[in-house]
Amino acid sequence: MHALHFDNRYVNELPGDPERSPRRREVRGALWSAVDPTPVAAPVLLAHSPEVAALVGLGEADVASPDFARVFGGNALLPGMQPYAGNYGGHQFGNWAGQLGDGRAITLGEVVSARGERWELQLKGAGPTPYSRTADGRAVLRSSIREFLCSEAMHHLGVPTTRALSLVGTGEPVVRDMFYDGHPKPEPGAIVCRVAPSFLRFGHYQLPASRGETDLLRTLVDFTIRRDFPHLAGEGETLYAAWFAEVCERTAVMVAHWMRVGFVHGVMNTDNMSVLGLTIDYGPYGWIDDYDPDWTPNTTDAQGRRYRFGWQPRVAGWNLSRFAQALSPLLDGVEALQEGLQRFADAYARADHDTIARKLGLAECRDDDIECMTVLQGLLQQGEVDMTLFFRALMDADLSDASLSAFDDAFYNARKRETVAPGLRDWLAAYARRRADDVLDAATRRERMRLANPRYVLRNYLSQQAIDTAEAGDLSGVHELLDVMRRPYDDQPGRERYAGRRPDWARDRAGCSMLSCSS
Ligand code: AMP
Ligand code: MG
Repeated sequence: MHALHFDNRYVNELPGDPERSPRRREVRGALWSAVDPTPVAAPVLLAHSPEVAALVGLGEADVASPDFARVFGGNALLPGMQPYAGNYGGHQFGNWAGQLGDGRAITLGEVVSARGERWELQLKGAGPTPYSRTADGRAVLRSSIREFLCSEAMHHLGVPTTRALSLVGTGEPVVRDMFYDGHPKPEPGAIVCRVAPSFLRFGHYQLPASRGETDLLRTLVDFTIRRDFPHLAGEGETLYAAWFAEVCERTAVMVAHWMRVGFVHGVMNTDNMSVLGLTIDYGPYGWIDDYDPDWTPNTTDAQGRRYRFGWQPRVAGWNLSRFAQALSPLLDGVEALQEGLQRFADAYARADHDTIARKLGLAECRDDDIECMTVLQGLLQQGEVDMTLFFRALMDADLSDASLSAFDDAFYNARKRETVAPGLRDWLAAYARRRADDVLDAATRRERMRLANPRYVLRNYLSQQAIDTAEAGDLSGVHELLDVMRRPYDDQPGRERYAGRRPDWARDRAGCSMLSCSS
């Protein structure tokens, strides 16, 4: 572990805050503040991702050493680490919120692996920073388990995401009022070490722009392109435009994947949007059980449902417009930024059409197929049909079977099943005709569908069950769920229970269908 090689370009090349203390404050003219993690009472390693350990250059012996929990619990630093909290702002629920920053995230440093890859190691829940405002800088076990598991599940599903190296219990309680209803209680605390090439967010650029700090903005943009987008060519405005366009494209691809697997981020504020197009900041996210584009897991969002499943593509576009606005001081006209936004729309349409073709097992997506998918989605919504189970079953279904028995597991409501059955039968007949007209042979089609339609997703109630047992001291549920999610497209004999539909008891249970931002 002591052999990890750090090259901390962010703090070494960018202006930092001269003050070195966690005192809460406004930080102007600087992109980061040095701050050490606050040690915890009794750090214990609860879970780790072997794949991420290998990525950053840590072996199983490193993970097993007592130093590991101390370092990734915030009680010790390795040589070369230079901890800091990043300074950024953001639009929250559509309103400009000013300075936010890493209130409970502390980057330890940038590891350069033997393969030459750069990985930022960031603790979440490691104690107060200058950006903690009124909060404590800590995180509870339940939300840390959710971030840990979902980061890895998303990766294995093929969705661009930040990763998670470790989950460390702190041995300290954290007080949270889970439903903001005046009932605070102590909960076990934990710290996740997140890993990504960079945790830069749209909000990092918005904050200096909002303050008229154009030189600082330019410095950060130049740095980002140099470090994280070295393949981009050109200079000046041309280079900035190319960079913005690439951020737009990556964002489009990421959101199209969310829609493919039924992931709802829940808090798509601009401070939670990565410029690398990675899914970032797992909070009150959720997974679609019955197909419902209006569903949001976030109780804070229950009124406006801004971040509902079906709105994610348009919210991503809105966020990119805010990002474009932040970059506008660096560009003469607005055309380049408008072109970038058009790239988002085009890239999203392309990715969506690709998703349609893959989910339906077609060689290509024709114009009619877009309508075909829309009709199907309408039926799934009307019939309260499970999204994951339906598409997986479609792969092997007898399309002429009027009983719809291949989809038995996917229905939540017998009456609604009766209502949509005629429509579904018609749809399946039309789909069978379309398939007959497609060039793919049966085996190729099945494989294409298998790899687009997961058997296992991180259903909200599965995480909650793992959390319930973990809070009672048994981490085996977390380990097993992590292992199931390593191969989400494979049938895993003996693990059928992880592939079932949401049980009735979980329908309206806290943590299963409703999540608050309290974490
Ligand atoms: P989020 O909605 O989780 O993305 O958080 C929005 C802002 O609140 C970010 O600046 C976070 O760092 C900050 N924040 C959230 N929870 C805490 C906490 N417990 N302590 C300090 N800052 C926090
Ligand atoms: Mg955040």
